[in-house]
Amino acid sequence: MLAVLSKKERDWVKSVIKEEEIERYMQNGRDFIDDDEIWEKLRKNVKPDKKRIEDIIQKSMEIQTLEPDETACLLNIEDPEIWQQLFKVAKDIKKKVYDNRIVTFAPLYCGDLCVNNCLYCGFRRENVVIKRKRLTLEEIRRETEVLAGEIGHKRLIVVYGEHPSTDAAYIADTIRTIYDVKVKTKNGYGQIRRANVNIAPMSIDDLTLLRDVGIGTYQVFQETYHHETYKKLHPEGTLKAHYQWRLYCHHRALEAGVDDVALGALFGLYDWKFEVMGLLYHARDLERQFGIGPHTISFPRLEPAANTPFIQQTKYKVSDEDFKKIIAVIRLSVPYTGMILTAREPAYIRREVIPIGITQTDASTKIGIGAYSDRYTDQEEDRQQFILGDTRSLDEVIRELAQMGYITSFCTAGYRCGRTGDRIMTLLRTGREAVFCKLNAVLTFKEWLDDFASIETKKVGEEMLKREMEEIKNKLPQNVYEKLLEYYERIENGERDLYF
Ligand code: SAM
Ligand code: SF4
Repeated sequence: MLAVLSKKERDWVKSVIKEEEIERYMQNGRDFIDDDEIWEKLRKNVKPDKKRIEDIIQKSMEIQTLEPDETACLLNIEDPEIWQQLFKVAKDIKKKVYDNRIVTFAPLYCGDLCVNNCLYCGFRRENVVIKRKRLTLEEIRRETEVLAGEIGHKRLIVVYGEHPSTDAAYIADTIRTIYDVKVKTKNGYGQIRRANVNIAPMSIDDLTLLRDVGIGTYQVFQETYHHETYKKLHPEGTLKAHYQWRLYCHHRALEAGVDDVALGALFGLYDWKFEVMGLLYHARDLERQFGIGPHTISFPRLEPAANTPFIQQTKYKVSDEDFKKIIAVIRLSVPYTGMILTAREPAYIRREVIPIGITQTDASTKIGIGAYSDRYTDQEEDRQQFILGDTRSLDEVIRELAQMGYITSFCTAGYRCGRTGDRIMTLLRTGREAVFCKLNAVLTFKEWLDDFASIETKKVGEEMLKREMEEIKNKLPQNVYEKLLEYYERIENGERDLYF
């Protein structure tokens, strides 16, 4: 019943793509992904010698983006001992740029109507087993109340199918609604302070509208960088079939003044080494044209979805061992970038890979439309895009992270003080962002512990805070430490959102 587009949908689909907003970024009519060149680099840079690898590691440690030949060298490492060394370097780079902080967020799915037919996605138009729904603004308010008032999230990634009923105007309304919600909590109040979006490619005008309502990061995954595979997985005649409209959407966002853009590839669609190269080329083209690289990179693996046989059939499924390699090579190739690991991955993988470079992860995750306020506990595949690997609560995840030595940061201050775009790039590359962030991590973690933590998590969390405060006392000037103590006390007394 959903397979045929209505006239309204067809007209809308025709109106979306603006060819002139693609061509202006291309060079001599070509995009920056040359499939043959990528394969050539992967073929050429085999069996790298020790000295070459040492030089590449040195460059990554200096927080410089790698050249494609260098990334290809890393991807071709065969010696398990050298891989172990690379995992260790990835960990050191993460520490150098982001210290022991990790940011948490939750996805909020607003609608699953979609005009596209991506073969791997439960929401694809032809999938008749999926219940279709678009949340009303009132329903979005209720979802946000649970997320901000009961769980304690401060950041969301808001997600939509691609459909005229969830166009830019609707998205703008949902973002305004989310930011408007303010809920009384045990000791203060809860509020979403940053709403990032994972949405389809848009025109510069639509992106300008979204910039004006204050979206955070604009996240779009290219899915696969391989042209031929992209074509097979996104049937001709659908909106998403246009590879370059998608490839240049981050360029358009930066042009529209959305400061932070996020890349990703869906691993399992094509060869993983090729996709890592694609992500690198993408980051480099943004750097070249705008002087701003990706705020974050995501590397989701394909998960099972209702009535979606492609997922069982793909021959490019990524093993756990290769997944670790993907994370390490991205960490070394684009050393300043944030790296997002999602609840698609099961808990045991999350534990294992977080140390090798992850900066953000989600928890208490529900991806059914309306699932937070419905309070359903089991996953229901007929209302989900795919099946999650980890549904643990934010409280549990935060406790585990603290036990592993990571402080959960709910800080969103950087964005609100203009530490975004090229300004944040410089701060990250020089390690200076870590100073602000450490202080704000302590303050926001304290807020969360006071408002939302279970007794057990509070105990572990407060021990962690004690250690962090001690470190700040020893490392930073006395006046900064005193200001921190003042804010800390004010938070204890119920004030919220104090930051450096
Ligand atoms: N519909 C928009 C689009 O495609 O750009 C918004 C994003 S979609 C709701 C979110 C992302 O989910 C997609 O970009 C894709 O990478 C990922 N995804 C789709 N099917 C998946 C699956 N079976 N397993 C894991 N991730 C999947
Ligand atoms: Fe639609 Fe996005 Fe799913 Fe493709 S990945 S079918 S565009 S929701």
